[in-house]
Amino acid sequence: MLLSVIVPLYNEEEIVATTFKVLEEELKDVEHELIFVNDGSKDKTREILEGLLPTTPNNKLVNFSRNFGHQAAFSAGLDKATGDAVVIIDGDLQDPPSLIHEMLEKWREGYQVVYAQRNKRAGETIFKRFTAFAFYRIIGKLTSIDIPPDTGDYRLMDRCVVNQLKNLPERSRFLRGLVCWVGFKKIGVKYDRAERTAGTSKYPLKKMIRLALDGITGFSSAPLKISFYMGIFATLVGFGIFVWSILEKFLSPTTTVPGWASLMTAIVFFSGVQLMTIGILGEYIGRIYDEVKQRPLYIEDKK
Ligand code: UDP
Ligand code: MG
Repeated sequence: MLLSVIVPLYNEEEIVATTFKVLEEELKDVEHELIFVNDGSKDKTREILEGLLPTTPNNKLVNFSRNFGHQAAFSAGLDKATGDAVVIIDGDLQDPPSLIHEMLEKWREGYQVVYAQRNKRAGETIFKRFTAFAFYRIIGKLTSIDIPPDTGDYRLMDRCVVNQLKNLPERSRFLRGLVCWVGFKKIGVKYDRAERTAGTSKYPLKKMIRLALDGITGFSSAPLKISFYMGIFATLVGFGIFVWSILEKFLSPTTTVPGWASLMTAIVFFSGVQLMTIGILGEYIGRIYDEVKQRPLYIEDKK
């Protein structure tokens, strides 16, 4: 039995050597390969790894030619992995490597996907906790697939699941969703998410929003339907205003120019609804465009 462990890294020079040591120590009784995916780091991450890896011939290093993102890094790792089971784990040791043994146990019991489910998130801002909480609830409501709440990407997957994932051609990848989509027998193991011991989060708000939109648009067309309902609602309101203005014209005794406020309200409201709807369409069209271009998910920098 060979276990592959995929570790995506972006500017993690402060911690990558520790991560390497901790993983090697944790897995010394398991036949394993570590696959480090350096996602275009601008710091010393690559040099440190190139210094460490020659001592352990099983382990691999993939270097990207630029920052392609966390999800692309997973895809690269899955492409390189040869193990019977594959674990993906963040490189900042926020996901405790000791959980891998528990995951392996469940895997031996016959589960093909074992995902780690967070109990607590230590040292994360209220904002991050709130947005994460809201995201999992919203995506749960909007999509028909069953994404377990509060799971990150930390998980173990059987070879059969990995092979299916590798066959999925899409470019906007939201791995948590895709793993649920391919199905198979799943189970969660609970853990407390630790604080980052070094370095800072590589997920600024912009990347979080991108990931959330990939997740929602990738697995649901509910936003398009919502815009349809908003359109119906706006039409009804518009019709109401129409009836009211006709009545007022005939019934009102004065001949002033009233109705400025209602006119403005209607214009602003309808423009808002229209722009929002176009924006939602844009999100989907942009993704269709990305798919059509058929660019590779990542480019390797092989020296
Ligand atoms: N990461 C990556 N590419 C990116 C952003 C992050 O490979 O563009 C890696 C990062 O090095 C870390 C993991 O993805 O190993 C999770 O990132 P981070 O810890 O910053 O996310 P958070 O835990 O704050 O959600
Ligand atoms: Mg982290």
